[in-house]
Amino acid sequence: MGHTAYYAHPTCFKHDMGPGHPECPQRLSAIEDRLLITGVDMALQRLEPAPAALADLELAHTRMHIAALRGLTDVLKEDMAAGGPEHAQLDPDTSINEFTFQAALLSAGAAIAATDAVLAGEYENAFCATRPPGHHACRDKAMGFCFFNNVAIAAKHAVERHGLKRVAIIDFDVHHGNGTEDIVAGDERILMVSFYQHPFYPEGGSTSDASNLLNVPVPAYTKGMDIREMVDTVWVPRLLEYAPELIFISAGFDAHREDDMGQLGLVEQDYVWITRRIMDVARQCAKGRVVSCLEGGYNLSALSRSVEAHVRTLADV
Ligand SMILES: [Zn+2]
Repeated sequence: MGHTAYYAHPTCFKHDMGPGHPECPQRLSAIEDRLLITGVDMALQRLEPAPAALADLELAHTRMHIAALRGLTDVLKEDMAAGGPEHAQLDPDTSINEFTFQAALLSAGAAIAATDAVLAGEYENAFCATRPPGHHACRDKAMGFCFFNNVAIAAKHAVERHGLKRVAIIDFDVHHGNGTEDIVAGDERILMVSFYQHPFYPEGGSTSDASNLLNVPVPAYTKGMDIREMVDTVWVPRLLEYAPELIFISAGFDAHREDDMGQLGLVEQDYVWITRRIMDVARQCAKGRVVSCLEGGYNLSALSRSVEAHVRTLADV
């Protein structure tokens, strides 16, 4: 069995929301460069995903939402051919270009392929270095730089197609994964565990009291030591009690001290520590199986160092 699979695709670099947008293609370039320079890429099995199938998208999203994105893309391409603009705006922070729909299909496809490969025993774990990210994408709408909810789709795929009885989604992005919550709340086959800065984007945090959600709001300027204590006293006991057969990570790195998108104080060593804790739980309950998908992280230097720390830990190098 190989250790760590790494999913990436050239089309994920072509999705672009316009000049100066923080969720930019350079995020992936910074990650790739860092993994090359540090030699971590040598320890990874690099794979290209296929686009997600409609039937898998529909495990987490309405047919209307999927059709609307496809339709907007067709209209955009027609407008561009007639000399129109290269972007269509969906909300104040989220827009599409001609490649967005395909990149979103590949991003979701990577999470699904990683799930299949890890459950087949081909790899112990996997990291999906894809964009657009997913955790703000709700059942019936795109928002917050997200179009399809990659992790939620893969989690539903794991329970529906592979028959797993319990999977966990762990979200350490600085923002609340409101889309993931929207899709998985009330589905006892999926446990969502997160922390997020509060009050903050979007919508002031969790809005559900479903029993399969363990959301931990933390105030601005919370540091890594406090997060670690919360992980040990709140997350880990619940995860061990639930005993997931597979763990997904919504791996956002915008809680880093140097990331101006949020005001939390994590550093690379905190991501190493959290990743190790998650892997410990996975080894106790889930045969070590972890599928991690890139979410946020907008300071390119901090993002690339943090992803390196996270992936190096997953690959055990
Ligand atoms: Zn975020």
